[in-house]
Amino acid sequence: MQCFSGSMETRQLILTPEGAKEIEQQYRIVKRSVDARQRDLKVLLTVLVDAQGCMVPKDAPVPLYEAPVFQHVQDGGKGTVKIVGAGPAGLFAALTLLEHGYKPIIYERGKDVSSRKRDIALLNQNKGLNTESNYCFGEGGAGTFSDGKLFSRSKKRGNMQRVMELFHYFGADDNILYEAHAHIGSDKLSGIIRRMRECIVEHGGEVYFDTKWNIRNEDGKTPVILAIGHSAHDTYRELAAAGVQLEAKGCAMGVRVEHPQSLINRLMYHLKGKSDEQQRQLTALIGNAAYQLVTQVDGQGVYSFCMCPGGHIVPAGSDPDGCVVNGMSASHRNSPYANSGIVVELHPAGSALEALNYQEHLEHLAKAHGGTEAQAPAQRLKDFVEGKACKDLPSCSYLPGIVPSRLDEWLPREIGERLRQGFRDFDRKYPGFVTNDAVVVGVESRSSSPVRIVRNDAMQSVSHPWLYPCGEGAGYAGGITSSAMDGIRAANSICEAFQ
Ligand SMILES: Cc1cc2nc3c(=O)[nH]c(=O)nc-3n(C[C@H](O)[C@H](O)[C@H](O)COP(=O)(O)OP(=O)(O)OC[C@H]3O[C@@H](n4cnc5c(N)ncnc54)[C@H](O)[C@@H]3O)c2cc1C
Repeated sequence: MQCFSGSMETRQLILTPEGAKEIEQQYRIVKRSVDARQRDLKVLLTVLVDAQGCMVPKDAPVPLYEAPVFQHVQDGGKGTVKIVGAGPAGLFAALTLLEHGYKPIIYERGKDVSSRKRDIALLNQNKGLNTESNYCFGEGGAGTFSDGKLFSRSKKRGNMQRVMELFHYFGADDNILYEAHAHIGSDKLSGIIRRMRECIVEHGGEVYFDTKWNIRNEDGKTPVILAIGHSAHDTYRELAAAGVQLEAKGCAMGVRVEHPQSLINRLMYHLKGKSDEQQRQLTALIGNAAYQLVTQVDGQGVYSFCMCPGGHIVPAGSDPDGCVVNGMSASHRNSPYANSGIVVELHPAGSALEALNYQEHLEHLAKAHGGTEAQAPAQRLKDFVEGKACKDLPSCSYLPGIVPSRLDEWLPREIGERLRQGFRDFDRKYPGFVTNDAVVVGVESRSSSPVRIVRNDAMQSVSHPWLYPCGEGAGYAGGITSSAMDGIRAANSICEAFQ
């Protein structure tokens, strides 16, 4: 909840995009969403009103929320907690420990966010993958160079509003406190992450980069929050070898599809027959359109995942023998492309390590059908659905480059065939979605973890109670917000246990 002094209430307004913009510029907004279901598009605003029923001005001296208070733990505080991984789960766990007076020590295998940017630039220029510093590994984890979407389907996993407040406290824009589908953007995230680390260090926490943690070096006397994300296959294997209980879990894999953003705007905002200028005016008010699509094929879900309006497709693997793609966007979401993962729900039979092997197999297949270094295999969308080869490819945001490939032929049947049927269904709902102006790029294999590090209700590993697996890599969260919330819960759990 936002923290308002005095007897403040809220009022709901249903407005045109132009009307909403005016109100937003002047008054304190508590919630905002766009309803694009009808041709007559509406913006739903909830505004703050005072006791007289007047809307509260934007700059009124009303605190947005209670600021966090971090304790100084240079002397060791109430105790030390190790954290593996500086992604959202690890960082929010560290901040929570500081609020409770515990000293966090973070080990991160990747580099600090500025050095990481240089490795990512080289990767995008197709100059090689640094296996320890890339889109998955390094300060801020997988979320740093992302779209920074901040919503979670889960309402259960703790205090989502607190996550937004902390992001805001460290520099995110005001709108993340009220947007229904808030996002930060990769250009802003790196500064926010750096400020979080500076705060942790300033208060006596410790952060070690280029430091790969291994369970072999632990004696089990200090609690360890395991926030490793889902890309550290080597760490999973080390945990398995040490006897930590892991299991396979449901996950989703597929491809990334990219359309011209103008086409997605036309489909989602019902702009057929409207001029380019009318489209430009509308998107200036409410931003480029996003979509969320879902269907069932053979009883399994096929759905869009991590849609990035005005974004870029990026090389998001950490294995030099594999090819993995994902999506990101900057805060303005203003590239001419709209990309989204389109994935198929999978339920791997067998052990956790077999599930990892399946994921790697798919990534290696993609690499074998791609080009050099980080170039990715791609096919025009209509050709993919109709099972035809394509001679050339449309322009694409993926910087290392795409090469024509028969994804319709080499994707495993349980993925490829379901994707094709899923795309047909999406085209029935949004005629024009399946077009050869769009391209599918392979593979989107890391939308969720195929492995769970089994834990109990106190968030301890069931085999190693001093380990607190959390975040996406533990298999109990997915996405920035839910991983951050899970990190907060792990830290709270330790603080309760060690009071
Ligand atoms: C390109 C891209 C775009 C994305 N876009 C979004 C989005 O818009 N919205 C959203 O909600 N989610 C998005 N995601 C997913 C999101 O980033 C993850 O769900 C989230 O970061 C998971 O948080 P985490 O802290 O659990 O793990 P991670 O962020 O993966 O962090 C884990 C960290 O642990 C480190 N690590 C692993 N093993 C070790 C070890 N042995 N020793 C030391 N350190 C180790 C890694 O280097 C990494 O930095 C995106 C992901 C990618 C790759």
